[in-house]
Amino acid sequence: MKQAVIVGAGAAGLTAAILLGARGWRVTVLEQHYRPGGCLHRFFRRGVGYDTGFHYVGSAKPGQSFGQVVRHLGIAPHLAFESLDPEGFDTLRFPGLEFRVPAGLDRWAGRLAAMFPGDAAGLSRYTELHRACVASYGLYSLDADVPPEAVLPWEERTLANVLASELIDPRLRALIAGHGAPLYGVAPHEAPFGLHALVTDHFLGGAYTIRGGGDRLAQVMVARVEALGGRVRLRAPAAQIRVEGGVATGVELDDGEVVGGDLVIGAIHPRAVLALLPPGAVRPAYRERVELARPGRVHMGVYLEVEGDLSPLAGRNLYRYHTWDVDGVERLDDAEVPFWFLTAPGARGEGRGVVLGLFPTSAARWAGWEGEERGRRPGGAPHRPPEYEREKARMLDGFLRRLAVDYPDWRVVRAEASSPLTMRHYTRVPFGATYGHHHAVDQMGRYRLPMVTRVRQLVQIGQAVAMPGICGAMMSAYVGVAGLVGMPQMIEELRAA
Ligand SMILES: Cc1cc2nc3c(=O)[nH]c(=O)nc-3n(C[C@H](O)[C@H](O)[C@H](O)COP(=O)(O)OP(=O)(O)OC[C@H]3O[C@@H](n4cnc5c(N)ncnc54)[C@H](O)[C@@H]3O)c2cc1C
Repeated sequence: MKQAVIVGAGAAGLTAAILLGARGWRVTVLEQHYRPGGCLHRFFRRGVGYDTGFHYVGSAKPGQSFGQVVRHLGIAPHLAFESLDPEGFDTLRFPGLEFRVPAGLDRWAGRLAAMFPGDAAGLSRYTELHRACVASYGLYSLDADVPPEAVLPWEERTLANVLASELIDPRLRALIAGHGAPLYGVAPHEAPFGLHALVTDHFLGGAYTIRGGGDRLAQVMVARVEALGGRVRLRAPAAQIRVEGGVATGVELDDGEVVGGDLVIGAIHPRAVLALLPPGAVRPAYRERVELARPGRVHMGVYLEVEGDLSPLAGRNLYRYHTWDVDGVERLDDAEVPFWFLTAPGARGEGRGVVLGLFPTSAARWAGWEGEERGRRPGGAPHRPPEYEREKARMLDGFLRRLAVDYPDWRVVRAEASSPLTMRHYTRVPFGATYGHHHAVDQMGRYRLPMVTRVRQLVQIGQAVAMPGICGAMMSAYVGVAGLVGMPQMIEELRAA
């Protein structure tokens, strides 16, 4: 029986474990954290669960991309998808203008055309481009006949370029860009159109939460790995990838134990894989390329328990812009919170509930405390110096002040924040980057970080080498495993599931 060792029990690593387990491999997944899931992590305070890197997913119906993935993996029967409001699953609020994003590309375009009649023709050209672009991603569109290189032209052109060519009203361009940018963390002037089209298509295909959140998805995947004879080992940090004669032969843990394998999968950032490889395992040019790759945007997370009327967030998320300059959000003062995202999983109406917030912050603000850890909290997170805690509290206060203007009747019962360093601690993602990699035009398409290196029997998967997001990370595992069985067969299996 062939053996595989997978480093990282995030969405990508667990997906790969199921795919290999179902093919008869004996799989061991090594996870450094005390819970599986990576970004799917949910933490608890007094019995209340707070999701960190899971808010919603899209296209979960049978026949749709994510729907087929969960069916093919055999986990669909254990997941309860709850639809967000198809009439408006996301509210985009800009100064003086609000747009509710409906499910369905045509309905979306129709509603925008009604608001911006001068751009009706441009919107229909835009939706044609969107459709053609999405169709070029064979795994996503479940079309085995599309060659992989079909995506390249779509990842060379920026979203800003497409918007400027097709649409006149700058507010319409901002609405479209402002919906996508937070979902993949790249400003429109450098976001590949392919990235924008694919990620927004995923949600326009219908938006859903999962009962139990990201943690439920992770737990269900772990159960499936185990049912297929695999193992997910927690608190098991990989310390080194063993390489003999140019071939990966296993993974050494912190305590010196070696887990051998015919295949090693690094379901972590390529920079983290690099740190696990012996010196000289890869060419200096590759090492330099990975080290020079720009990391993605970072964010602050806000976790609230709120009393009041939560109906404005029942079945819908909020994208709140205090500027029309979507491109410039990251150049504005992050302490002023020029953009924030808000979601309230399970909110109905009046009462007490969880509200989760996110807003971009600058990496430089936190860089000074990177190495400074003073002891551990009970959950394992590091204590950092008081100045760090004060800065976090200051950023949280700024956010709460913004929130109070929009929702003056809410009473915040509990509030906690996370910084990029928190994210880095729990996932070991370099720099705590939300989507791992900066998925910009100069780092996508033919300039993507590769899934394979010179080290044979080593494959890299995860959101940093593919598309960001839960579906993107899971699909990266399909691409990685397709190296063994062939992509057309993988797509056929997925279609037929
Ligand atoms: C705040 C936030 C909100 C998000 N919201 C959404 C959303 O609403 N919808 C959506 O689709 N996507 C969302 N995403 C993105 C999504 O969560 C990620 O794209 C996806 O979960 C990444 O999965 P991954 O497997 O690639 O990486 P990760 O989740 O980072 O998994 C990597 C795993 O490897 C482990 N690891 C690292 N180093 C080692 C080591 N040396 N040894 C052992 N284990 C190791 C880590 O602990 C981690 O568990 C969000 C992300 C963030 C951060």
